[in-house]
Amino acid sequence: MPRPLNSKSTKVVATLGPASRDPEIIRQMIHAGMDVARINFSHGDHKTHGETIDTVRRIADEEKVNIAILCDIQGPKIRIGKVANEPLMVSPGDKITFTLDDVPGENGLISLPHPEFMKDVSVDTTLLLDDGNLQFDVVETMPRSVVCRVRIGGPLTSRKGVSAPNANLTLSAITEKDRADIEFALSKEADYIAMSFVRKADDIRQLRWLMNFFNGDAGIIAKIEMREALENIEEIIKICDGIMVARGDLGVETPAERVPVEQKRIITLCNNAAKPVITATQMLESMKSNPRPTRAEASDVYNAILDGTDAIMLSAESAAGKYPVRSVEVMNTIAITAEEEMWKSREASAVFDISDLAEESQSENISNAIGEATYHISAALNPKAIITTTLSGYTARRVARERPRTPILCMTPEAKTYRRMALVWGVHAFYVDEFNTIDEMLTVTVRAAHDAKHVRRGDLLVIIAGVPFGIAGQTNLLKVHRVGEQGEI
Ligand code: PEP
Repeated sequence: MPRPLNSKSTKVVATLGPASRDPEIIRQMIHAGMDVARINFSHGDHKTHGETIDTVRRIADEEKVNIAILCDIQGPKIRIGKVANEPLMVSPGDKITFTLDDVPGENGLISLPHPEFMKDVSVDTTLLLDDGNLQFDVVETMPRSVVCRVRIGGPLTSRKGVSAPNANLTLSAITEKDRADIEFALSKEADYIAMSFVRKADDIRQLRWLMNFFNGDAGIIAKIEMREALENIEEIIKICDGIMVARGDLGVETPAERVPVEQKRIITLCNNAAKPVITATQMLESMKSNPRPTRAEASDVYNAILDGTDAIMLSAESAAGKYPVRSVEVMNTIAITAEEEMWKSREASAVFDISDLAEESQSENISNAIGEATYHISAALNPKAIITTTLSGYTARRVARERPRTPILCMTPEAKTYRRMALVWGVHAFYVDEFNTIDEMLTVTVRAAHDAKHVRRGDLLVIIAGVPFGIAGQTNLLKVHRVGEQGEI
């Protein structure tokens, strides 16, 4: 059964892993409200990922629900090597040497097999290990090693991640492993590829070049988790297809109290650019082992939606936790509650003032004016649905940015746009035949909504499109339409 139009508008991204690869669990997660399945390439192998992707696609088809596949590529994650006799307790003042050599990890000498990273650190660099729990200052650099003094100590174990927030890193954005993973993800026709540790717009250009080289085409989600990415955020948003606020690593690179500040700033910038944005990590962390979220977690999900996020993400909660289905259900119910409150407060304060609209229209381009007009007309007329026709998805994203209460039905003849819409707030996508004239467009789109039992004869619709058809990125037609008035059903 396709989802009813009055289901939640905020999209749920759920990471699939050992706790959620079983086909029946995936089916239940789809019923509970999963919109995007995230495959995390930091773990697992291609065979397992391939099977998981095939299972999601099969069940989504059976359930007639549009589910996008998001392949999250590990990126240049820096890790130390082995630690013998772990955990090694390190204390403030201790000296630890990291070396490019493969050593057993004893007597204060631990391997760090990343030559590019080693080259970028200098005596003023701070190294954060284990998600920032341990802090080391570099006190001496040598051709194959760096000597550090421990500032904040604690237990150190093998393969812990390392970051250097105050260094300007020159690491390549795409590792050998990433290349193989990207080629594999494209061979499975992933809808989105999430790029980790993006620092600048050129990193995205590199990924796009590689995708062309592999003859693939997936939407690019830039994960914002580095200090440099925060500095280059406008350029990154311009060039990518969506953003993930990757709060896990972001909270290592920046102080914890900056994470909500950056989250709100990034979401606002994405909303302004009509690019989908995912808020990720530790949203329902305690549900890894408990059937109910903490009050703080419920508030966090709720507030991210009020901030304007398109999607909320589950990581370990759904990949490795005890309650993957329940976690999706909880996100779903918080989303419904937040959306209702958001609309109520907007409706209480919004007065439809045609002079405001006219003023906006003069200063903004036609697509923006139509997007805003669609919101106001829907608020005034309460139609059954907004129908957008789109090739690239731009028209649907532009309307979604206004966060209308009315469901948005995105009609597209592009298979890739159809699936990518699973990530965009409030959008229900339909894959339809091509149309060449306005009459054909009306027939094709109204029939699709009617066949799916979303609209009936006599229902009111607001239909927007770009004419002539076939040119992406322009919206210049708006029609208030009563179903059946042109004999289309
Ligand atoms: C994060 O750091 O918040 C994140 C989503 O990335 P990953 O899970 O790949 O570490």
